[in-house]
Amino acid sequence: MPEEEISRIVELNEDLIQDNDKLAAQNNQILKENGIKSFDVVGAIGAGKTAILELMCEKLSKDNRILVINGDVATRVDADRIEQHGAKTIQINTGRECALNSYHISQIIKNTDLSDYDVLFIENVGNLICPSDFILGAQKRIVVVSITEGPWVIRKHPILFKFSDIAIINKIDLKDYLDVDIDEMINDAKNINPNLQIFTTSAKTGENVAELIQALEI
Ligand code: MG
Repeated sequence: MPEEEISRIVELNEDLIQDNDKLAAQNNQILKENGIKSFDVVGAIGAGKTAILELMCEKLSKDNRILVINGDVATRVDADRIEQHGAKTIQINTGRECALNSYHISQIIKNTDLSDYDVLFIENVGNLICPSDFILGAQKRIVVVSITEGPWVIRKHPILFKFSDIAIINKIDLKDYLDVDIDEMINDAKNINPNLQIFTTSAKTGENVAELIQALEI
């Protein structure tokens, strides 16, 4: 590919990201004006995003009206699971796109009566790379990894950790079976972002999930 062609593509991508950021700021403003607490949950496939959201919704739906937007390439498996726990869900199938973007969220905001909700969770498409480029406008970003993803998973994805507010290291119930130093993973996360609130959880046993939910300040 000629060099000028390559630089044109880079420019286009940057335009796209800038537009995304503008729309994300708008989303953030609208959600705030409507008194909705909003969280964007990112992480790889199988990290436990849906399982954690099920536990959060189960607890928080007793006193809050919750909407969950589920991003997925093709299915509504996650949305169906979460609906069993007291939340309303909207599924977005992104097809070839590997992350939600702020336009997806703005369309939902436009077509939803926001006065029906107190809390919004957005479960992004499962992967640790694409969501780095697209903020959505939620107040806080939660990144979920599991210890099954290997000891270097945090170190290898610094951007997501840099721009997240809460980090969850999940599946700690498996620690005796894996050669992973959880303290070292915590240190990696702190080194990337000293302001991160970090929780080591097991969605399976529920360990530390109450503390995590408390940190959402809902
Ligand atoms: Mg999921």
